[in-house]
Amino acid sequence: MARAYWKGDVVKGTHPFYLSPEWRAMRARIKARDGYVCVWCGADVRGKGKARVDHIVPMEFMWALRLDPANLRTLCTRCDNKRHAEKGRGVADLGAHTDGTPRDPAHWWNQQPKRTKQ
Ligand SMILES: [Zn+2]
Repeated sequence: MARAYWKGDVVKGTHPFYLSPEWRAMRARIKARDGYVCVWCGADVRGKGKARVDHIVPMEFMWALRLDPANLRTLCTRCDNKRHAEKGRGVADLGAHTDGTPRDPAHWWNQQPKRTKQ
């Protein structure tokens, strides 16, 4: 059912989840955890509209992880756009199996977690 949300422009923040207080609170928490820098390029994302909190495994694959800090990271808008360009190519190019498990053995999911859950 929820999948229909992903078939179009709804990906751009209009999914009701992105408007929920839970998500807003979690976003603030993740940005603070990551020190207000992009985890990919290190860019400072302090300031309005600069930070994107990204789902490592997209919500449409792993709905249960949508508010799991271990599945969230801070990106700058540039890296986020880069990532979503990749996303558009499909699951295989994301480097993940359809269940959301990463194919890449170097992926942190396949290693010891670097970050402890808060
Ligand atoms: Zn970045």
